[in-house]
Amino acid sequence: MKKFGIILLLILWGWGSQAQELVKGEIKDVEPQGSYMPTFKTDGEDKAPLNIILMIGDGMGMAHIATAMYANGGELTMTNLKTCGWVRTCPKGSFTTDSAASGTAYATGEKTHTAAIGVDVNDKPLMNLPEKLDKKGIISGIITTDYMDGATPAAFFAHQPDRHMSAEIWADLGSSKLTFFAGGCAESFEDQEYETRDAISKKFTIVSDLSEPEVAHARRLGYLPPKAKTASVNKNRGDFLPATTAFALDYLSSKAAKGKGFFLMVEGARIDKSAHDNDYPAVVREVLDFDKAVEAALRFAEKDGHTLVIISADHETGALSLRDGNPETGRMKGIFVSRGHTAIPVPLFAYGPESQRFMGVQENSDVSNKIYDLLVNKK
Ligand SMILES: [Zn+2]
Repeated sequence: MKKFGIILLLILWGWGSQAQELVKGEIKDVEPQGSYMPTFKTDGEDKAPLNIILMIGDGMGMAHIATAMYANGGELTMTNLKTCGWVRTCPKGSFTTDSAASGTAYATGEKTHTAAIGVDVNDKPLMNLPEKLDKKGIISGIITTDYMDGATPAAFFAHQPDRHMSAEIWADLGSSKLTFFAGGCAESFEDQEYETRDAISKKFTIVSDLSEPEVAHARRLGYLPPKAKTASVNKNRGDFLPATTAFALDYLSSKAAKGKGFFLMVEGARIDKSAHDNDYPAVVREVLDFDKAVEAALRFAEKDGHTLVIISADHETGALSLRDGNPETGRMKGIFVSRGHTAIPVPLFAYGPESQRFMGVQENSDVSNKIYDLLVNKK
C-alpha cells in the first residue's frame, strides 16, 4: 500500500512538473487591421536592389505569425508575400541562440557565441553591415522597440563580449557608422555618462520627437522618444514602429548618395519579450504592430521600385503552438511549452529585386552576407 502511494505521488509529481511547462493562452476581440497586397511588379527581378530593408521580429516563429494571421481574419501583409524561406539560428558553441549571437550573425555575417555583441568566438570585433557598407559609400539606419543597448540593435553598431555591458554598448554608438537610429532608453539619454552623451551628440542630432525643427537639417539623426513610445503595445505604445519605419525610409532616401542606396534594420523587439512572459494576447498584438511596419516598408519598396524587403526573426521564443481557433471571430487558442528560446528554424519572407536569393533553408549569417553582396555588387 505504501509502495502504491509513493508511485502515485511520483506520477502526480511528474504530471505536475510537466503541466508547469505548458501555459495555455487565448485571444479574442482583435481589432482587424486588414493587410497590404503589393503588385509584385519588382518581386524576383534579376537585378540587384539599390536599398535593402531587413525586418527582424525578435522571437517570431511560425506559430506567432500564424496566430496573428488567423486572429486578423486570415491575413497579414507578410503572409501575402510569395517568396519564402527558412532561417537556421544556432550559434557557435551551443544549440539554442540568444538575440546577441543571432543579431551578430545578421549584422556581421559570422556566427558567434551567445551574449556576444559584434565580436567573434574569441571576442575580437567583427565588422557589421553599417561599417562594411560605409566603406562603399552606402548609408545605414536601425529602428527598434527595445532600448538602444538591446542585443539586436547593439549588434549593428557595438563590439562587446557581453550583451549586459550597457554603458560600453552605449559608448560604441558614438563611433558607429549609422546615419539614423531610433529606439528606447532604460532611463533617459541624460542619464548616460557625460563622455558617451558628448560623443553621440557630436555625431548625431538627437531629438525626442520627429517634429522637432532640427530634424530637417540633421546630417545624422538619433531619435530617442519618451519611454512610453517604445513600451509594450499593452501599454499603448501607439504607432512608433510603423511611423518611424516610414519616416526613416524617406530620411535615408534623402541622405543616400546617388546610385549608392541604403540599408535599414527594423526590429519588433517586444514579440520576444511577450513570449518570454507567455503573454499570448501581447504576442499577437506585437506581431500585428510589426506587420504594420512591414506594410510601411513594402509601400516604400513599391513606390521606389529598387528596394528589397526581407522579413525574418532571430529565433523562436516560447515553443509556441496554435491549438485551436476561429478566423471568423478572431478567437485563438495557443500553448507555450517554454519561457525561453528554441532552436526551431524561423520563417523568412522577401519582396523585391533578387528576393529569390533568400528562398530555401539558410543560416542567419547567410542572410547578412547576401545583403552585403547585393548592395555592393549593384550596377
Ligand atoms: Zn528573448
